[in-house]
Amino acid sequence: MPDRNRAPAVAPEMEWDSPMYKEAVSQFQNVAEKMGLDDNIRERLTMPQRSLVVTFPYRTDEYSKVRTAYGYRVQHVLTMGPTKGGIRYAPDVNLGEVAALAMLMTWKCALVGLPFGGAKGGVRIDPHAVSRRELQRVTRRYTAEVIGMIGPQTDIPAPDLGTDERVMAWIMDTYSQHQGHAVPAVVTGKPPELGGSVARREATGRGIISLLPSAAMRCGVAVDGARVVIQGFGNVGRYAAIAAAEVGCRVVAVGDLTGAIHNGNGLEVGRLARYVDEVGGVKGFPGADEITSDELMAIDCEVLIPAAVGGVIHAGNAGDIRARLILEGANNPTTLEADRILLDRGVLIVPDIICNAGGVTVSYFEWVQDLQNYFWSENEIVSRLREIMIRAFESVLEVSIREKVDMRTAALMRGIERVARAKLVRGVYP
Ligand code: GLU
Repeated sequence: MPDRNRAPAVAPEMEWDSPMYKEAVSQFQNVAEKMGLDDNIRERLTMPQRSLVVTFPYRTDEYSKVRTAYGYRVQHVLTMGPTKGGIRYAPDVNLGEVAALAMLMTWKCALVGLPFGGAKGGVRIDPHAVSRRELQRVTRRYTAEVIGMIGPQTDIPAPDLGTDERVMAWIMDTYSQHQGHAVPAVVTGKPPELGGSVARREATGRGIISLLPSAAMRCGVAVDGARVVIQGFGNVGRYAAIAAAEVGCRVVAVGDLTGAIHNGNGLEVGRLARYVDEVGGVKGFPGADEITSDELMAIDCEVLIPAAVGGVIHAGNAGDIRARLILEGANNPTTLEADRILLDRGVLIVPDIICNAGGVTVSYFEWVQDLQNYFWSENEIVSRLREIMIRAFESVLEVSIREKVDMRTAALMRGIERVARAKLVRGVYP
């Protein structure tokens, strides 16, 4: 007899339903099938435990004008500890996207062994189209709207696409004002003056490059002199570029919202970073050729690092990619179709949930430091980060070889398995 009360894998009427959410669920279902995951746990994990949608007003700089914005916070799994994940500001962010990214955060945290479930938040605004004062008002009001959900023991936000240290400082301040005392541990990725951790800003980029030697060895690429292409030059791409140059790679092309540039002899990344700080983007960087964003993805290179938005590697350009190794710095940069095309072509993809886990790992260090009021040295942080990243990579590689699956499937298996075990031992209340 069919179980009429069992919720369908992806119900069309789900509030958070969207193409991105469907993709995250279908990825999860495929892996769950391979693992023979318990049906009860499988159904539970396809749905986030808590989702909050808010709409709220904010004043524009023209005082009499008030606009309304949408805001979201989703907590996927509350089983292993507080939930953790960034807040993104983007003009098209929606509940489905936030729910999908919250799910990815669950697998990411479990995979690297952090005591968190996954969460994500978002505000549907274009952060580049509002003033600093407007951004501050939006942030403070959004924080007030989700204040019942966040907290150092419940849910700890961090930066994501379109947000930064400044935004985290405003969230920390708003939350602390409501509590009546300073609560640094409510967010991570804060400025160091407020209890932010040293090396958090560079953590995601550094973490990606810490995996480069092991990943390069796996696909027969020499790190010294390897040509690297980076799509995105924000918090992730910039520090990945600097770290790649430090280990002897040649960063030959970089692209961002303003355009893309190429120099076969290698770009001077330190000078490029200063140039971007001054003019706001990579376009026009002296000593490099301008190329289109399509050309960027097709440049002859050994390593490609997508480090900005999702979905940039898709069925339309996967066939043109010439890199032998893809290090996913962004969340969800490769569509499922592109993933299959690249795997068939023998390209090694180190998936987002392991590759960009350096950010949340140093966030974890920041949270621990804030709770203990005891701060670590940069050396301690960088070496612990490396150790955790490499350990996670090796454990995923081991699953990938043993189960004869690609790295993405292996990483998901590792993450899902840990969450499933925790759910089983906690049982169901009541
Ligand atoms: N937004 C980052 C991510 O997607 C960092 C999250 C965090 O530090 O909590 O992993």
